[in-house]
Amino acid sequence: MDRDPIATIGMIVLLTSSGDFFSPGQPAHFRLICSHSVPVRPKKGQKMGGRPRRGIDGPDRPGIMHRIRRHLLSTRTEINPMTNTCTRLLIALLSCCAALLWPHRPGLAAEQTLQLLASTFPIYQITRNLTAGNKRVQVALMIPAELGCPHDYALSPQDMRKLTKADVLIINGLGLEEFMGAPVQQANPKLRIIDSSRGITQLLHFGEAEEHDHDGHPGRPAAKDQLHEEAETPNPHLFASPRMAAQLSANIAAQLARIDPAGAPLYAANAKAYGQRLERLAEACTALGQRLRNNRIVTQHGVFDYLARDMGLEVVAVVQGHAGQEPSASEILAIVATVKEKKAGAIFTEPQYPKGVGKTIAKEAGIAAATLDPAANGPTEAPLDYYEQVMRTNLDTLERTLGSN
Ligand SMILES: [Zn+2]
Repeated sequence: MDRDPIATIGMIVLLTSSGDFFSPGQPAHFRLICSHSVPVRPKKGQKMGGRPRRGIDGPDRPGIMHRIRRHLLSTRTEINPMTNTCTRLLIALLSCCAALLWPHRPGLAAEQTLQLLASTFPIYQITRNLTAGNKRVQVALMIPAELGCPHDYALSPQDMRKLTKADVLIINGLGLEEFMGAPVQQANPKLRIIDSSRGITQLLHFGEAEEHDHDGHPGRPAAKDQLHEEAETPNPHLFASPRMAAQLSANIAAQLARIDPAGAPLYAANAKAYGQRLERLAEACTALGQRLRNNRIVTQHGVFDYLARDMGLEVVAVVQGHAGQEPSASEILAIVATVKEKKAGAIFTEPQYPKGVGKTIAKEAGIAAATLDPAANGPTEAPLDYYEQVMRTNLDTLERTLGSN
């Protein structure tokens, strides 16, 4: 039986009182609880544009019963013991329903093969490192390797075919896969989802830079209402920071081990080794950040915010306030003014986007322009240490462009 428990629970219509439930002589004051009243994620976990992540989280969304249970128990202080007993009975009934309708999905048997599908190139590379040596596992990349950040991406028929074949979809999370949704579950209802950023704290949010800026400062060219909305939007580019990439790696390994217990020791060992390599890289980033002569930079889009935090760099402006969207003439002038005012050292474009506007700004502002690669894209058959190679090149570029002591 493979039924959607959320839809079923929603149809069952769970009734509980916020006052004296089933208490004689008292008017019943009912509250309807269904799947729609249980948030899948807090608001900050929603994607740019505000569309909820229902499609992605779908039947694999964790803890839905826990949330319902917590919601019911939250009224305990307001109700009498009879109500409390009724509530507990209701919870027990719900748990039985869930157990019957939503059977536990056991881990794979040791001989079973596993088709993993990574949504983006960085997640693909991390997953390849984690599963290296496991011959039962195949890792595929959904979007084209050369694409980079999938901002404004749309699912293709080829993507849908890959989704149909996959056992597990591993996503970046934090809204980067906005292009997915209901079609994912429709293509493959049994698909398991690993959200690599789930549970990671110390997130940065778009728009934070403006809060510390002067009025009308053009650091991040966007309308005021957009800034307000973006302040609630987490920056999904964890992968461009080796320190945060290590957390993504550990997260994926832990979730993968639950799905494939037979491979758990290998995933743990690979995660430890890869994590140590990424941590060494992170230490090199931090060390360089302390030596740079100028730590104020302009970037193409918000992809380097986490790396900048690691290195103590200040991103004084971004060329594309919204990824893939070139700034207007007035926004370009505003960025140039910011660069001059803040005495930024350089502007860094990315291989994924055209360099023209960045070079124009650099020329107008009289600063250097160079390319930093967030490793958001890469060759189809990239070596396992591709990310480290790219980041070491980035460190050389930063040092050469900004100067060091
Ligand atoms: Zn991006």
